Amino acid sequence: MHEYSIIGSLMQRVEAEARQRGATSVGRIRIALGELSGVDPELLASAYEVFRERTICQGAPMEIRAVPAVWECSACGRPIARGETLQCPVCRSRARLASGDEIILEQIEMEVADV
Ligand SMILES: [Zn+2]
Repeated sequence: MHEYSIIGSLMQRVEAEARQRGATSVGRIRIALGELSGVDPELLASAYEVFRERTICQGAPMEIRAVPAVWECSACGRPIARGETLQCPVCRSRARLASGDEIILEQIEMEVADV
């Protein structure tokens, strides 16, 4: 499933970050998930539940921040409101997606052992 491979690569990144900083455990992670990313947040959450067993993320809840789709004109940058035609009302250029298709690992809270 799509969501499983996404979680798999996210976990790899979390583990790499944790190793780099000498963290002993991860407290919490936050993902920004775009409305148009094609990923189902519930499936993503359940994939995470399966994956985090026996990893550094075992005790870390995952928070998913939903990012709404935002369109703008590809030529003049004018924001195009939700529900409007995907064409700039001023210069007639095509709209492009400014945000809303991302899957970003936004934050990792880590415990670092005192030396
Ligand atoms: Zn325009």
